[in-house]
Amino acid sequence: MNNPYLLSVVVPVFNEADSIDLFINRIFSVFSNQTKFVWELIFVNDGSVDETLGNLLNHQVHYPQIKVIDLSRNFGKEAAITAGLELAHGNAVVVMDVDLQDPPELILSMLDKWQAGFEVVLACRTNRDSDSWLKRISANYFYRIHNILSSPKIPSNVGDFRLMDRAVVEALKKLPETHRFMKGLFSWVGFKTTTINYSRPKREAGTSKFNGWKLWNFAIEGLTSFSTEPLRIWTYIGLVVSLSSFLFALFIAVRVLISGIDVPGYASIMVAVTFLGGLQLIGIGVLGEYMGRTYIESKRRPIYIVRKIFEHTKP
Ligand code: UDP
Ligand code: MG
Repeated sequence: MNNPYLLSVVVPVFNEADSIDLFINRIFSVFSNQTKFVWELIFVNDGSVDETLGNLLNHQVHYPQIKVIDLSRNFGKEAAITAGLELAHGNAVVVMDVDLQDPPELILSMLDKWQAGFEVVLACRTNRDSDSWLKRISANYFYRIHNILSSPKIPSNVGDFRLMDRAVVEALKKLPETHRFMKGLFSWVGFKTTTINYSRPKREAGTSKFNGWKLWNFAIEGLTSFSTEPLRIWTYIGLVVSLSSFLFALFIAVRVLISGIDVPGYASIMVAVTFLGGLQLIGIGVLGEYMGRTYIESKRRPIYIVRKIFEHTKP
């Protein structure tokens, strides 16, 4: 390509006052000497309550590349990414975290792959040493279970850090759902995809915004957004349970015929009652999960609300 193309970098930030200076210094030093592309850096302030917005605006006034979308409250990372993608104009768009766990240097290799014809370039972490033991194990199981139940599959060890062609971004913008499990949506749209490996470093500053409970809910979100198997499985569990109780009833009847009236078994009745009760509650819970989702989607609320966009006016 001879004409410089436009690269958009979308960065969601939530209470990241300590990370912003480091991030901006690093990405500007990576991109300063190149002439192949012009670029814009879009920060989405996801309702931070610390100095994040002030810090961002201090930089924004000096650099015409920087745009800041200020959301009206914390809508979550998925919604923040959606907001960023909607404002990005680039021929290629990169989504990344602000904490430098996604090294900006990698973007240059992603761009090479993109120019070689790939529409999606994923960054795959070859080690998760920077994650806790529990997070590694649970992530591993999440990907496995998700990929058994849902299609299309999502690649494991791939986060939101990726480059997308304009066509991919346009496709994503057409997906209207309020519940946005971005990893699932990204793979749902398809396109010609390749992967580059990197080893994920530790956070440079600040703390992780995802604790165990948030991640658990995130996993449920992922499963129920992309699979209806958990609903159907109850048909089979129900069939198996009722078939076994029917066989058990037969067994009791035959035993009574052969050896006369039995002493009634308190224990077996309690087990049957509590087991079936539990099973029913789980079944209702699964139904509730999906019903809640339908309810929320049916309101058709916007995914995020913008308070203000800060950008340099074009000359
Ligand atoms: N983030 C966000 N909204 C949220 C939570 C997180 O925009 O509600 C941003 C956060 O500022 C960071 C990125 O998402 O840029 C990844 O968050 P974090 O590093 O805490 O996640 P981890 O790397 O621990 O999975
Ligand atoms: Mg991080």
